[in-house]
Amino acid sequence: MALIPCPYCKKQISSLAKQCQHCDAKLTGDNEARLNIAKINQASKLQTHSFIAMTLFVAGVVIWFWGGEPAEGNRMYAGAVCFTFGFIGYLITRVRIILHKRRSV
Ligand SMILES: [Zn+2]
Repeated sequence: MALIPCPYCKKQISSLAKQCQHCDAKLTGDNEARLNIAKINQASKLQTHSFIAMTLFVAGVVIWFWGGEPAEGNRMYAGAVCFTFGFIGYLITRVRIILHKRRSV
């Protein structure tokens, strides 16, 4: 058994419930399927976020060291911004993936 969002009111309900306890909507048998779809969608969204963050991180490094010398001025600034946002974004996404996996078990 797991908690899933009600398809009508979005409040958390049991995946085994026949009826939503919040909005009384009737729920037909495929709650498990809905739950799995929601899980897969969430996982792929997190993968995309992690990929974007990784790209930003790599872009920051490339901008910084383009031409074999550490950047200066605007280029250094742009590189540092990409690097920092990419790095932090990646860490946050990794934590979210771990939490998501833990919740799914
Ligand atoms: Zn509901």
